[in-house]
Amino acid sequence: DTAHRLNRMFLVYALDVQERMHISIQELEKQDQYRNEFLATLAHELRNPLGPIMSGASILESTDDESTKKRVSAIISRQAEYMSKLVNELMDVSRITQGKVKLEFERLNIQDIISESLEMVEQHIKSKSHDVHVQYLEDGVPVYGDRARLSQIFSNIIHNAAKYTDNNGKITISVKQEASLVVVRISDNGLGIPHERLGDVFNMFTQIEAHSTHTKGGLGIGLTLVSKLVALHHGSITVESEGEGKGSTFEIRLPVSQSAYDQTTYTVGEP
Ligand code: ADP
Repeated sequence: DTAHRLNRMFLVYALDVQERMHISIQELEKQDQYRNEFLATLAHELRNPLGPIMSGASILESTDDESTKKRVSAIISRQAEYMSKLVNELMDVSRITQGKVKLEFERLNIQDIISESLEMVEQHIKSKSHDVHVQYLEDGVPVYGDRARLSQIFSNIIHNAAKYTDNNGKITISVKQEASLVVVRISDNGLGIPHERLGDVFNMFTQIEAHSTHTKGGLGIGLTLVSKLVALHHGSITVESEGEGKGSTFEIRLPVSQSAYDQTTYTVGEP
């Protein structure tokens, strides 16, 4: 009887191992596919700005016309800035993954952080004529974190809201406090995210295929960076969408104080 029971236990164990190995091979294949797509996108994204930079340089060499020089220089610096943003994002992800990023924690006001983040993406929002509504609490809500990194988190999400919404869209930002957490919701009425892909957007190199015709640029690492930064703050980030074409809402929860920071753990994904 004992031999029989041991045998069954072993069988259950073996099936479990087999199942897990199966999942992990599938997972590896998926990661491998992401990596290949990412390398192709990276090459593409880095090569694109090189064309205008190189032809711009040769125009600068051959022209004496001041207004042409000015226009071409502006194009060159915009393209170079875009390249440098991509490279910085890549370096940031790898430094965070290796645990090399140190945060300078202090008690801040979330209102100031959101204003700073909005300033960082102002040009992009204006160029698409989006309407931005911000709903603050009267007394303001504190947040415990690193000023520059918090601005990076929110500017990334607001930038995405603007990017994945057609012109004249609406972006709504609301702030509230729930117990020892500050809760910020950033909603847009843009392209939305298909339900079955919601969990994927925080994964490295993930871009929703249906969006590629609407947008240009990006490597699919912005939200990976955001979720790693939120984790370093012991916060959480979730995403909801009613589906394609119906907008998206990102919700970020962060500790209001050091003691709240000590008590919270990180979560990511769907609410
Ligand atoms: P990317 O550089 O492609 O913008 P991110 O990591 O910031 O990379 O976002 C990953 C993907 O999630 C995007 O490619 C896009 O398909 C989707 N996404 C992010 N934010 C939004 C949003 N507000 N609305 C719809 N889709 C979004």
